[in-house]
Amino acid sequence: MNYKIVNIRTTAESDPQDSILIIYTGGTVGMVFDEDASLAPFNFSKVLEKIPEISQFKLKITVISFPVPIDSSNITPKNWGDLAYIIYENYSQYDGFVILHGTDTMAYTASALSFMLEGLKKPIIFTGAQIPVGHIRSDARENLITAIEIASTKENGEPVINEVCIYFNFVLLRGNRSQKVRSSTFAAFESHKYPALAESGIFIEYNHASLNKPKAGAKLTIKNMFDPHVAILKLFPGLQKEVVESFFSIPDLKGVVLETYGSGNTINADWFIQCLQNAIERGIIIFNVSQCAGGEVIQGRYETSKKLDQIGVLSGGDITTEAAVTKLMFLLGTEKSMKKVKQKLVVPLKGEMDF
Ligand code: ASP
Repeated sequence: MNYKIVNIRTTAESDPQDSILIIYTGGTVGMVFDEDASLAPFNFSKVLEKIPEISQFKLKITVISFPVPIDSSNITPKNWGDLAYIIYENYSQYDGFVILHGTDTMAYTASALSFMLEGLKKPIIFTGAQIPVGHIRSDARENLITAIEIASTKENGEPVINEVCIYFNFVLLRGNRSQKVRSSTFAAFESHKYPALAESGIFIEYNHASLNKPKAGAKLTIKNMFDPHVAILKLFPGLQKEVVESFFSIPDLKGVVLETYGSGNTINADWFIQCLQNAIERGIIIFNVSQCAGGEVIQGRYETSKKLDQIGVLSGGDITTEAAVTKLMFLLGTEKSMKKVKQKLVVPLKGEMDF
């Protein structure tokens, strides 16, 4: 790929010790209105022009831009791979990484990267904006400046953050626990089932107890294989048998995230359970994730989820749909056997779910 690389001139003395790599993928943060008044991504120079304060950081800051900035609605697993490679190739040269990304699929990309990067000991901070940087009320300035601050924060010479996060509207969240929950206010993201990792006010207060603890001696490696033969089936009252049958007959389908009610409850009519059972017998993995923002899947708590355990539906516990679908694609792409995929799905890989 033809990345554009720009070194930002900062007011720091000749050789700042700490360094940050910003990766610009696109999103509202850098968008401008085109002729028909819809928002389209623009290149990073516009972002820099509008936030000149960045140059006051006593840091070495480099920006790598995707050749064509994209609206994150068009992100694909190929882009996740590109991001992972950029981080991998530049890992030893920078203290932290900030990824500017559209908000629509930021939680998916952050989840995917958390699974791809093994042995991470540096901060990867995703951020973006709800209003483009050129607008007087844009949230881009605060989001980007604080994301850089967090990505460069160290204690006793070690980075405070050692994981993939989303920083947005004064809170730092674990990436694979986050969900975009609002499209019209600045508080776009929430992590309902895991505490915020930091809050930004006059000081940035870190929630040390909830941060990932890096493994001693860990070395960064990446795994970049996603199997896209997955789908999400969301339950609703009135869901028809023909729909479910034709859903499970999708050719080459390997895994399904089943979005269930409450604590993992489904329609328990015989036809529905039979459809699930037939699919499982044909080798399709079914991963049970709740539609509720809070709480978790507990198969067997109600009559309406008892049979799921018996037929081999796997419980997603408190995982989000975003983390569940990326984890399923990742494990199907990287594990050698379906047995291993099933074993790893139900346990946390990168703090995306509780035990
Ligand atoms: N559609 C935009 C995107 O995800 C929305 C945003 O950035 O807020 O790229």
